Amino acid sequence: MTRFAERPWTQGVSFTEMLAKAVAERVAVAAFNVYDLASVRAALTVAQQTGQPILLALGERYFKNLRPVGVVGLLNGLLESPTMGAPLSPLGLHLDHALAYESCVEAVTAGFSSVMIDASQFDFAENVRQTRAVVERAHAHGVGVEAELGGLAAGMASHEFVSGQELLTDPDQAAEFVAQTGVDALAVSVGTVHGLYKGEPHLDLERLDAIQHRVSIPLVLHGGSGTPADLLHAAIRRGVAKVNVNTEVSLAAVGAIAATLRDHPQVHMAELDQQAQAAMESTMARYVQLFHPATAH
Ligand SMILES: [Zn+2]
Repeated sequence: MTRFAERPWTQGVSFTEMLAKAVAERVAVAAFNVYDLASVRAALTVAQQTGQPILLALGERYFKNLRPVGVVGLLNGLLESPTMGAPLSPLGLHLDHALAYESCVEAVTAGFSSVMIDASQFDFAENVRQTRAVVERAHAHGVGVEAELGGLAAGMASHEFVSGQELLTDPDQAAEFVAQTGVDALAVSVGTVHGLYKGEPHLDLERLDAIQHRVSIPLVLHGGSGTPADLLHAAIRRGVAKVNVNTEVSLAAVGAIAATLRDHPQVHMAELDQQAQAAMESTMARYVQLFHPATAH
C-alpha cells in the first residue's frame, strides 16, 4: 500500500461504520461528486460547516479531470493548509460508478476508503462475478464496496454513461446478490433517476420496504438531485444510508458562472472558481440538512 493508506481524514471510521451509524440514527450520508479543486473544497467546507460525515465521490467518469491519486493529494493538501483547518466530521473518499475492476484497484491503491463497482448492466451472474472480485481485493485493504442491482433511468442533464434504462431492483434478487457478493452497501433502483426528473418524482416505497426486509446491509439511493424532502425521508426510514447528489451541484456552479460571465465577461478565472465553489457549497449544505431530518432546524 502507498503512504496515502493511512487515510487520516476518515478519523478511523470505515465506510461500513459510517453507513451503519447512519442507519442507526435514521439519517443518510451525502455523497457528492468531486472532479476538481472547487468541488473538493466545497465538500470539505460543507463537512466543516454541518459537522456531518460526507463522502467525496470521484466518478470513473471524471478520470479525465482527476485521477484517484489526485483527489487524495488535493484532500491532504487542503487539510494541511492554514486556512482550511481539520474538518469536524469523518470524511470518506469514494469511487463512484466504476465499470472497470482496474479503476477500483487504482482507487484502493491511491487510498480511497470505498469503491463502487457498477456491473449492473450485465446479467445477474456476471454482476455477482465482477462485484465479488472487487470485494475480495478491496476488503483485503480495509476498503468498503458498493455495488448496484437494477438500473436507473436517465433524466435531464444526466452525466452517467450507464445505460439509462430503468430496471427496478427485485427484492429477492437483492438478497441473493448481497449473500453471494459480500458487498457492504447496495445501490437500488426504486424510481430515482440519474440527472433531473422529467416528470413528477415517484419512489416505489413498497419495493424499498421489501428490499429492506430481505437485505441487512445499508441501501444507497443514486439520483438524489430534485428528489422531494418527504420522499427522501421516507427512503431514509427504509434503510437508505447514502444518497448521491451530483447533477444539481454541477448545475448550481454552472449557473453561477453563467450569470457572472453575462455581466462581467472579463472576470478572472480565480474569481469564477470561487463563485462555482460557493454555489456548490450552498446546494451541498441544503442536501446534508435534508438527509439529517432529526438534526435539521
Ligand atoms: Zn449513480
